[in-house]
Amino acid sequence: KLYNQVQDLKGNIRVYCRVRPFLPGQPNRLSSVDHIEEGNISIIAPLKYSREGKKSFTFNKVFGPSATQEEVFSDTQPLIRSVLDGYNVCIFAYGQTGSGKTYTMSGPKELTEEGQGVNYRALGDLFLLSEQRKDTICYDISVQMLEIYNEQVKDLLVSDGVNKRLEIRNSSQNGINVPEANLVPVSTTSDVINLMNLGQKNRSVGATAMNDRSSRSHSCLTVHVQGRDLTSGSILRGCMHLVDLAGSERVDKSEVTGDRLKEAQHINKSLSALGDVIYSLAQKSSHVPYRNSKLTQLLQDSLGGQAKTLMFVHVSPEPEALGETISTLKFAERVS
Ligand code: ADP
Ligand code: MG
Repeated sequence: KLYNQVQDLKGNIRVYCRVRPFLPGQPNRLSSVDHIEEGNISIIAPLKYSREGKKSFTFNKVFGPSATQEEVFSDTQPLIRSVLDGYNVCIFAYGQTGSGKTYTMSGPKELTEEGQGVNYRALGDLFLLSEQRKDTICYDISVQMLEIYNEQVKDLLVSDGVNKRLEIRNSSQNGINVPEANLVPVSTTSDVINLMNLGQKNRSVGATAMNDRSSRSHSCLTVHVQGRDLTSGSILRGCMHLVDLAGSERVDKSEVTGDRLKEAQHINKSLSALGDVIYSLAQKSSHVPYRNSKLTQLLQDSLGGQAKTLMFVHVSPEPEALGETISTLKFAERVS
């Protein structure tokens, strides 16, 4: 009965664009974003892109620099709620490094309650709603936190370093899963904050002084929800992936070599694979190329079918970022 609101596939993919403000301490400059209105963003584009010197893109929603975390979340909320009804959901943060992906998903470095991003608010909502339904359905909520770096899947919720490489499995009972990764039951926001802190700490372990690894790996907070109907005893399962993607910036192949080049190629490959999957779903294509990257393999059960997808694409206001901004917006336009 919970599955009867079948929507067409296209209706299950939403794209929101978020423009971050100029950062404090930066000189006041002209923004490369010209205008924002409802679902529209227009940017000041070089003449080679547009004869008017401006180019406009349309998405389901565009959030300007003054949008608060609360405002951004309130448009995400309905999606979160559907997880408790047994739907699978994927929420992505896409954009170049420094454009605000981690801010949207987690929050600023010095986390305040107001600053809490989608991850915290989503879990907070799940706790609240499951509590409200406790007379009819008993919910168990648990989380995993994984990192995909150079096409290797690693567990971020470990206390002894993240070096073990894990396999993605497909079982008839649990669908796509990573059985070796820690699955931790959570019931309060402070449980979540502690786990996220552990995950963040592990994510930076691999970073060297000059290389911030977090910008070159995907991190995925997966929330597994299981509900038992207290009258019928029937079980319902929903799953939500909250994904902070690696930076989408293109590196200049003439300038990097070795490990840095390998990383760049892996990121490029997995972001294109993700774009191709969402594009084929939006086109209702009969073949969806999930197998082309670890990221799309991991998320296969939650992309397409009845699953709901939300992509936040992030844009920096700086004129220097314009080239990346244009490729970000083009990527987003293709999948929306
Ligand atoms: P990314 O994860 O894409 O590399 P971050 O989320 O780390 O980018 O953002 C880069 C910087 O900009 C951080 O200092 C962050 O706190 C700040 N920032 C990003 N988005 C916003 C926003 N909407 N409002 C205020 N500061 C932001
Ligand atoms: Mg980040």
